[in-house]
Amino acid sequence: MTNKQEAIFSYLDELYPNAHCELNYSKDYELLIAVMLSAQTTDKAVNKVTAILFDRYKSVESLANASLSDVENIISTIGMYKVKVKNVIGISQGLLAKHAGKVPNDKEKLLQLPGVGNKTANCVLAELFNEPYLAIDTHMQRFAKRLGIAKSNDSVEIMEKKYLRFIPKERAIKTNHQIIWFGRYKCKAISPKCDDCKLKEFCKNI
Ligand code: SF4
Repeated sequence: MTNKQEAIFSYLDELYPNAHCELNYSKDYELLIAVMLSAQTTDKAVNKVTAILFDRYKSVESLANASLSDVENIISTIGMYKVKVKNVIGISQGLLAKHAGKVPNDKEKLLQLPGVGNKTANCVLAELFNEPYLAIDTHMQRFAKRLGIAKSNDSVEIMEKKYLRFIPKERAIKTNHQIIWFGRYKCKAISPKCDDCKLKEFCKNI
């Protein structure tokens, strides 16, 4: 491991020893739906609407049979809700029709569900099945560019490959959460808190 890798991982461990997924869920399909809903919006905003949604619809069957307008009313405070409402119901119907109502531990099968892209599939596989997949969200992208892990014009796919080489497999899931927390609470897009940051010597943003 290089000095840079050691410095980054030990600083992230110091700051966020218990970083974890901040979406609230109690069932596998609830996580999948919450992650799909979190595109282009905050986990906090998603948790507000899923608290109501999952309380009203307590099973994947009830969500599959929910009325579009009722679900739309519940999730209307989050971005792109008009598309997402169809995905909430479509995912539930897809899980029932093809996977006996369970979230499959299979990336290709996940990607066939409506509204499930690479980031959502990776996030769910890591969270539910402890598989070493990385969710490359806006914080992961910013971190990769600022810390020189990827180039500023790299695609998300290339960035994911570079991260997979940079982060040891056994700490992929933990580090993914830690970088997301670092981006949310310290290395923000605007006005990052650089004064006491221990990664300054590796940072291209300084
Ligand atoms: S020095 Fe500032 S911009 Fe660079 S990694 Fe630290 S917080 Fe982020």
